Amino acid sequence: MTKNITLAHGNGGEENNELISKVFYKAFENDILSKSEDAAVIHNGELAFSTDSFTVSPIFFPGGDIGKLAVCGTCNDLAMMGAKPKYLTCSVIIEEGFAIRDLEKIVRSMKKELEINGAVIVSGDTKVVPKGAVDKIFINTTGIGEIRQRGISSNNITKDDLILISRDVGRHGATIFAAREGIEFSSALQSDCASLSLQVNALMEAGVKITALRDATRGGVAAVLNEWARQSNICIEVDEESIPVSEEVYGSCEMLGFEPLNLANEGTFVLALPKEHVQKALKVLHGFENSSNAVIIGKVSDAYLKKVILNSSYGTKRFLDLPTGELLPRIC
Ligand code: MG
Repeated sequence: MTKNITLAHGNGGEENNELISKVFYKAFENDILSKSEDAAVIHNGELAFSTDSFTVSPIFFPGGDIGKLAVCGTCNDLAMMGAKPKYLTCSVIIEEGFAIRDLEKIVRSMKKELEINGAVIVSGDTKVVPKGAVDKIFINTTGIGEIRQRGISSNNITKDDLILISRDVGRHGATIFAAREGIEFSSALQSDCASLSLQVNALMEAGVKITALRDATRGGVAAVLNEWARQSNICIEVDEESIPVSEEVYGSCEMLGFEPLNLANEGTFVLALPKEHVQKALKVLHGFENSSNAVIIGKVSDAYLKKVILNSSYGTKRFLDLPTGELLPRIC
């Protein structure tokens, strides 16, 4: 590992994982943490517990803002463990000179998103730092959720499961990049930022048995699939053509040299479901606007354990690796 922190250490990919395992896991190691789930399962499996900090730039972007993102991010990590988000904390670090009007706008977004999730903020903290000590505003949220379906885990995926995606990929990353650079690719390019607890709840209520769920945030779908392949000691084979990518995202990737599967999403999740539950799950997902193009993207095999294989439409195969390098800093 390098002597000092680089931007790559926050990329949600290879370097980020190395930092987490060699510094944090090494010091804090325990059975709950080492499960590496989206949220920790605590209190005899009854509660999910998760935290996330938000540093996105710009703080207002097409499809959301840092406040909406801060509530969605933590609530989604709870939902990915089959939990209903209940109680959140909210800590803000604000730069001297920040407009109160902007702060109110951010807080209104948070309130709206909390209502969607049926969650409340029950504790918080405010720090103000001198100009230049932080860029505008950083927000941390921590949340507790009530687990409604037990046993959901990224460590339990087997050949009996199929891999699905809830919607088209790469919107958040492409939107933030365009907004930051002042490029307008298309007015239709908007972040997918959204709360996922409604969809997850509907899946559970319909009796869908869930093996694993993960929102494809930093590092994108490529990171989720690689983490799952490693954690469950399986090979995941994905058909490249089956992964939905919008024209706007595809166009921006062509122009900027990004890979849609590496781009961050903030309202898109990957599902591993037992084969016999897939049709029921798709029917539920298709009832929601932001998962109306949910689709099967792959299967589990034992071709190369701990690896992800991408099958192209030309019949060629290649490994899809964990993203590396700086990617896009401050996307969430
Ligand atoms: Mg997550």
